Amino acid sequence: MKVAAYAAPSATEDLAPLDIERRAVGDNDVLVDIEYCGVCHSDIHTARNDWGGTQYPIVPGHEIIGRVLEVGKGVSEFKEGQLVGVGCMVDSCRHCHSCEEDLEQYCEEGLVATYNSEDKISGGITQGGYSDKIVVDKDFVLSVSEKLDTKAVAPLLCAGITTYSPLRQWNVKEGDKVGVIGLGGLGHMGVKLAKAMGAHVVMITTSPDKGKDAKRLGADEVLISKDKDAMKQQANSFDFLLNTVPVAHDVNPYVALLKRDATMVIVGAIAPLPEIHGGGLIMQRKRIAGSLIGGIKETQEMLDFCAEHNIVSDVEMIDMENINDAYERVIKSDVKYRFVIDMKSLTQ
Ligand SMILES: [Zn+2]
Ligand SMILES: [Zn+2]
Repeated sequence: MKVAAYAAPSATEDLAPLDIERRAVGDNDVLVDIEYCGVCHSDIHTARNDWGGTQYPIVPGHEIIGRVLEVGKGVSEFKEGQLVGVGCMVDSCRHCHSCEEDLEQYCEEGLVATYNSEDKISGGITQGGYSDKIVVDKDFVLSVSEKLDTKAVAPLLCAGITTYSPLRQWNVKEGDKVGVIGLGGLGHMGVKLAKAMGAHVVMITTSPDKGKDAKRLGADEVLISKDKDAMKQQANSFDFLLNTVPVAHDVNPYVALLKRDATMVIVGAIAPLPEIHGGGLIMQRKRIAGSLIGGIKETQEMLDFCAEHNIVSDVEMIDMENINDAYERVIKSDVKYRFVIDMKSLTQ
């Protein structure tokens, strides 16, 4: 079936309208009428081939909210009209160790990303959520509560799960002192989620203005990372650090903040990190780790947690035709804190 979409024709051209082909609804498939799609920094990296390997034309978008239009014969989990979400993955091998442990994001044969992956079912390349409709295997469709502001739920599918998963994996609990480094799409979700888990949340940022905003989002304290005295005062005091900085940066000043045996998890920078001083890790048995989104089971758990605690993303709505301007603003961090495309604007 042909559906309307917006695609990047090449690494250097603006996104523009393009009709794409979606596969026919198979027995295990769900056809979703897309209402909203968040704009993630990964969309831009892929559209512009920053990480290499982009196959053009490419339709980005992996923070998808919509309603079920049709289900295949083998689908009993979803009904027509139901509110659903699709995140960063649409398939995986289903039989490796990671898949069997509900960790499809670490599939040993490689996850099938929502866009720019080989589609195992229909062949060709997967195309994402900047489109009118999408067909997805039921095992990769999430159910979404009607209770929350639907458009502000979209970013939970990537920014939300990317921050929720490490907070859970490292057992963040009531009373823990948690630092969230950087306040953007990821950081603002990290603050809200860690706060809802009962942590004492410290926003660690270079910008006093962002610090103020973090308090509005629920942070208990602000630590300005350029203030060497303040950093020294908080040395060896954090139970956990969530590092959301999206680019290469010096991590040594943050390692100094960790308590003995505590971990800093990198979720933003898919880039070489400059020299890490071994001494900073060795002396108090500190750890640096990484984390990628979350499995489907955990993503559902996160959506349910957010519905229970009334957590959504802070969003700025845009029409599809304004996507190229939005990309420029994301690159300048000029958005509080996530753009979401109103997909009605695509077909009107
Ligand atoms: Zn993303
Ligand atoms: Zn697998």
